[in-house]
Amino acid sequence: MSPAPDPSLFDKVVNLCKRRGFVFPSAEIYGGFRSTYDYGPVGVLLLRNVKEAWWRSMVQLRHDIVGLDAAILSPPAIWEASGHLQNFTDPLVDCRNCRERFRLDKLDDPGECPNCHAKGSFTEARHFNLMFKTYAGPVEGAGNEVYLRPETAQGMFVNFKNVLETSRKRPPFGIAQIGKSFRNEITPSNFVFRTREFEQMEMEYFVPPDEADKWFDYWCDERMQWYVDLGIPEDQLRLRPHDEEELSHYSSATSDVEFLFPWGWDELEGIANRTDYDLRQHAQASGETLDYFDPALGERYVPYVIEPAAGATRTAMAFLMAAYDEEEVAREGQGQGESRTVLRFHHRIAPYQVAVLPLSKKPELQEPANEVLGLLQPRYTCDYDETQAIGRRYRRQDELGTPWCVTIDFETLDDRAVTVRDRDSMAQDRVPIDGLLDHLEPKLS
Ligand code: ATP
Repeated sequence: MSPAPDPSLFDKVVNLCKRRGFVFPSAEIYGGFRSTYDYGPVGVLLLRNVKEAWWRSMVQLRHDIVGLDAAILSPPAIWEASGHLQNFTDPLVDCRNCRERFRLDKLDDPGECPNCHAKGSFTEARHFNLMFKTYAGPVEGAGNEVYLRPETAQGMFVNFKNVLETSRKRPPFGIAQIGKSFRNEITPSNFVFRTREFEQMEMEYFVPPDEADKWFDYWCDERMQWYVDLGIPEDQLRLRPHDEEELSHYSSATSDVEFLFPWGWDELEGIANRTDYDLRQHAQASGETLDYFDPALGERYVPYVIEPAAGATRTAMAFLMAAYDEEEVAREGQGQGESRTVLRFHHRIAPYQVAVLPLSKKPELQEPANEVLGLLQPRYTCDYDETQAIGRRYRRQDELGTPWCVTIDFETLDDRAVTVRDRDSMAQDRVPIDGLLDHLEPKLS
């Protein structure tokens, strides 16, 4: 049986994000800008680690997937051919009573306004296109429109031929991309879960059409395992196939990886069989040939595409939620009880892998502290903190999710050893500085 969602977790994580510098509301000094967020000093590390872990599993550890970084600004021709200009819409309804706007497909009860509880007060649904439009060049007007991409995927389709010709890859092969996407969401909500500017991690895997079903199943399994390997408990994840009406205009099958958020199950990633829809559309609209000649079969075909499409910012939020824990512990060094908040991140996801903490600011501890930093920084992202009582510094690192703290004390001056503290068990080991890298390496690889 799966665990129940914990609604109280939401505010706890959002508060911690602000307090510790993970995520700030954008333009906060001007009163905030509800639909976007800024990633602070530790949030930017967390987000980089999420993206790095994805890139590592998708590109670095494979030989069949290459990377791409395509432009965000794109001409209408791309979105005309992809179908987004016509189909990338959400059904928008207004409440005639309180004037709030809603996305019809996300309402629990389409007969009652969740804001003012008026019944039957909604207008007819209008189709609202989610793409942001702007103008290229000095003249704002017809013919100069460009769009901010609402997904990174089209960059891979329009570069299919370039990649095929330059990378020596042959189907089955993939193109991976991480980058910003923009959607004029009707109701941005739930912190960084749904924002108007966000980051995606998408991969288009081009396969022979008769192998598409096999590869779809393969990618569903691979992607579920990625979250589990990085520490999300299996019972907080599920794979949910879309039913017929829910499918996007380009898809013949889609399954969502869902996470148990504080408000219930919701999407982290969609894995879709996009068929040959996109390549055919772009081939037809551009006049280019976007297919593959298979010399073994002696025939040409338009590859089918299996797409795992994840959100980097949304996934970072899921890692935060899954990592959050509170527990009663004996106060370190004092034997009294207290509660601590700890983010039990996997070490690849944690913003800092190691914190270097000289016990005091006295100059004689600076030299060994610098030596330890010099050893660790080339391999790991390290925090350095020399103020406050050590117990409070440990609590701060717990709230940042730092798996290991290295403390330099006055004994270090005699024995050239340091104290290594484990975030989860709070156990402390005395380790010689000369053996520190060997000690940490198996724990952080
Ligand atoms: P939804 O139904 O929630 O609007 P979607 O099914 O349209 O999302 P996709 O087009 O499949 O989403 O996008 C792939 C991934 O990109 C999503 O699973 C999500 O992680 C991320 N994503 C999409 N829209 C947003 C957004 N507005 N804010 C943050 N992440 C997003």
